[in-house]
Amino acid sequence: MKQRSLLARHALLPDGWRENVLIEWDGDGAITAVKTGVDGVPAAHFVIPGMVNLHSHAFQRAMAGLAETAGDTADSFWTWRELMYRFAGRITPEQLEAVAAQLFVDCLRHGFTSVCEFHYLHRAPDGAMYARPAEMAERVAHAASRTGMGLTMLPVLYSHGGFGGQALSERQQRFNSDVEQVLGFVDALSSLRGGQFEVGAAPHSLRAASMAQIGELTNALPAGRPIHIHIAEQQAEVDACLAHSGQRPVAWLLDHIKVDQRWCLVHATHLDEAETGALAASGAVAGLCPSTEGNLGDGLFPLTDFLAAGGRIGIGTDSHVGHSAVEELRWLEYGQRLRRQRRNIAVDGQQRRVGDYLWQAALRGGAQASGRHVGALAVGRRADLLVLDDAHPNLAGAAAADVLNLLVFAGNDNLVRDVLVGGNTVIEDGRHPDQAAIAARYSTVLAQLRELTP
Ligand SMILES: [Zn+2]
Repeated sequence: MKQRSLLARHALLPDGWRENVLIEWDGDGAITAVKTGVDGVPAAHFVIPGMVNLHSHAFQRAMAGLAETAGDTADSFWTWRELMYRFAGRITPEQLEAVAAQLFVDCLRHGFTSVCEFHYLHRAPDGAMYARPAEMAERVAHAASRTGMGLTMLPVLYSHGGFGGQALSERQQRFNSDVEQVLGFVDALSSLRGGQFEVGAAPHSLRAASMAQIGELTNALPAGRPIHIHIAEQQAEVDACLAHSGQRPVAWLLDHIKVDQRWCLVHATHLDEAETGALAASGAVAGLCPSTEGNLGDGLFPLTDFLAAGGRIGIGTDSHVGHSAVEELRWLEYGQRLRRQRRNIAVDGQQRRVGDYLWQAALRGGAQASGRHVGALAVGRRADLLVLDDAHPNLAGAAAADVLNLLVFAGNDNLVRDVLVGGNTVIEDGRHPDQAAIAARYSTVLAQLRELTP
């Protein structure tokens, strides 16, 4: 008989920590009851909701750490992008599935139970469509289902090489897609929809999709589906947008498209004051990827002003130089401390504990951006639970109220012991049952990809 409940000594509910919490779920993995003050012997000490990773390009897991040697010119996002293109130009469907499976195991082990995949590797290396047009996206979906990861697949609209409808370069041909094709991917993937899987869409950026295309795509997408876009990540992109449109990227988007709660604006690093307020008021989520943004030298998001304006945030691992929810949240807070020369930034009048504030805020924003019923231990949500390792010295004698601060800010040991996704145990004692086979396959694929990459 499959496990259908868990009794936790302490569990993090939407309104905070509660004691002796019984969580029950149905055969599909949706929570049916959350009861507090229940007698019995707890099976777990500290239980928190699994985190949503709202921004991923799975194939980039294979190049993490390979772009950290200085070249002859000033290294920047744009030189990193050259290496990314070399990987993107070669990876096969089988290789992508192997890389995605490794990524999902990494992410599950480190506290993520959902991923939003921003997927633009549509075509074969020669630019032809695959016989099954959604083949590459299906491979990522298969890796998610094999590993137990919840997934929101976002087929990407990628038509242009720069502002003003510039032609794609040769190396961008694999990404080539128009609105009709993206809607075709959405349609093809819709048969997989269910508790563990949702399909939205993503205009790649204001560089790669015209405003008219973005309007057309979002109008045609079925109601309620998530829409993600990269925006204002790099100062050079802001400058190019100003030169093209006379407006900054976020201002330009908000002026032309009805951006609402369906939307996730990924990065949104470079905002002026008016954009910060307008984005917060839109109800869209700012999709922050602190380890990648730090790695690429993007800049720092105006977190304090955005939160003060009621803005919604979530976290993603994007290029996968990190694959831990803790690392993203810690970077997010530390970037702001360094910038402002102050401590304990991400708090509000009600929640003064930074770890709790960040974990809960990223859960809410991540759940919204995923378009799935996740992000809380509450009836109707997925039974996505993390059981923390209460025997670890970092949690020695810990009161529940201190657990998230200890998790986010003390050391680099992984405190995630067991992980349930949709009520299924996918990580037990820190291990995934298929992790050895997945790692062996990943290692073979990495050897193949590196051979091809100078
Ligand atoms: Zn990205």
